[in-house]
This record gives sequence, C-alpha cells and structure tokens, in this order.
Amino acid sequence: MAGYSPIELYAGLLIAVPLVLLILLFVTLSTIILLKALLWQNRKRRAYRQAMKEKYRPDGLPYPPAGRAMCDVCQKPHEKVYFLPSGQRLCTNCYESLKMTTVEKDVRTEIPPQNKPEKEKT
Ligand SMILES: [Zn+2]
Repeated sequence: MAGYSPIELYAGLLIAVPLVLLILLFVTLSTIILLKALLWQNRKRRAYRQAMKEKYRPDGLPYPPAGRAMCDVCQKPHEKVYFLPSGQRLCTNCYESLKMTTVEKDVRTEIPPQNKPEKEKT
C-alpha cells in the first residue's frame, strides 16, 4: 500500500463502506419487491381462476344465480343453492346430479327417432 497515507486509506474506507452497504441494501430491497410482485401476480391469477371456476361450469356455460336457501330435492338448508330459471332450487350436489341427467336427456333427444309408431296408417 505504497503512496497512500493512513488518513487517505481511512477516508477511502469511509466512502467505500457506506457505498457498498447502500448497493447491497438496494439489491436486497429490489429483490424483495420483485418477489412480492411475482407472488401478488400469481395470487391474483389464482383468485381469478377460482372466481371463473365458481361462475362458469366446466362446459363453459354460466352457473345460475345462487344464494343461501333450502334445496328442493334433498330438503336441507345449504350455504349455496342455485336458483334455476324454472323456479327450482338445487344445492350444488343435486345440481351436479341433475345436470348429468339433463345432459344424458339432451343426448337422447338429439338422436333422431327412427322407429316412431305411426297411428295414422291404421
Ligand atoms: Zn340438494
């Protein structure tokens, strides 16, 4: 360390140490902010997906309006009961089972009737 007096070295340290600490602090803070932003974005995306899942059925159609009520099929009070356009009130379980049967019915009605009994001929 030729050429530097102890006072010059001390002054250099006095400037360099806070500078390094400041840079470290800046890097740490920006990393924390970046991580929080990524976490927040991830949470937002998950919340959006959850909300869409509650609003829309897996086939893309929206669920009917829902609220706390009595189910018409199982006759029990539920936190979430769907109010169907027909006036029927169904809990999530009964709605799912009814949906299955209506889907089956839809498929059945889509098949064209081939052997319809013709009463006009007799
Ligand atoms: Zn029910």
